[in-house]
Amino acid sequence: MAGPTAELETLLMQRSLTDPQLLAAAETAGDVRILPDATVIKIGGQSVIDRGRAAVYPLVDEIVAARKAHKLLIGTGAGTRARHLYSIAADLSLPAGLLSQLGASVAGQNAAMLGQLLAKHGIPAVEAAGLSAVPLYLEEVNAVVFGGMPPYALWMRPAAQGVIPPYRTDAGCFLVAEQFGCKAMIYVKDEDGLYSANPKTAKDASFIPQISVDEMKARGLHDSILEFPVLDLLKAARHVRQVQVVNGLVPGNLTRALAGEHVGTIITAD
Ligand code: ADP
Ligand code: MG
Repeated sequence: MAGPTAELETLLMQRSLTDPQLLAAAETAGDVRILPDATVIKIGGQSVIDRGRAAVYPLVDEIVAARKAHKLLIGTGAGTRARHLYSIAADLSLPAGLLSQLGASVAGQNAAMLGQLLAKHGIPAVEAAGLSAVPLYLEEVNAVVFGGMPPYALWMRPAAQGVIPPYRTDAGCFLVAEQFGCKAMIYVKDEDGLYSANPKTAKDASFIPQISVDEMKARGLHDSILEFPVLDLLKAARHVRQVQVVNGLVPGNLTRALAGEHVGTIITAD
């Protein structure tokens, strides 16, 4: 055997798995996009699904129409029920890993409901977004629904402070998009995008159509419209180098974003 494979094999036998030379050798292996034609969309829990019919039905119609032209991996947020669970569990001094499981069950409830609404169009909800039957569904019906919580469960890496799981559904959906080398990641929420401050409480907040991760951090917006760990995941990503946040309460926004239009806010890795 010759070439990088032999070198990598030797290094793997001799070095620490985080040795710089070993990491560089591992980098020379070709990069493959698993599902390059698919787009991940996250339907917000608190921001969208908790609003019920008025918010969800129009989005279902958009999804059904959009999947004629797009392959969609549809992740769900958790929202208010998860926040309620977190408050009870934290009060009971339960750890982040348990809270992560509780949050996942709520995202799963939302996926189950969205799946029922899409069922007559042949679009299924799957238990986990891990590959399994997902490529087949994408090939046959162009869409699949999954609970957006990453399945870290008890193995959730706790935050520096407190027991709220830091990697929730924004992160879970991003990781699916990045893992599969998807075309785009679109967050569907209830504001037009990112503002200079939370528009729910700061009425004079100004809209930001495009921003980089570094600028977001510099402006103190790292913990605002997306879960803060997503920014570092985005910055380190190989495939998904930008995400788009759109207002799903405005009919047509999701469709326009899928068509590549700049609606909402685009957050870039660099
Ligand atoms: P999801 O339902 O996907 O979990 P969230 O409710 O967690 O969505 O996040 C969206 C919310 O983030 C918005 O409804 C808004 O109130 C809040 N938010 C906080 N800071 C900002 C900001 N600077 N710009 C826009 N939205 C913000
Ligand atoms: Mg959220």
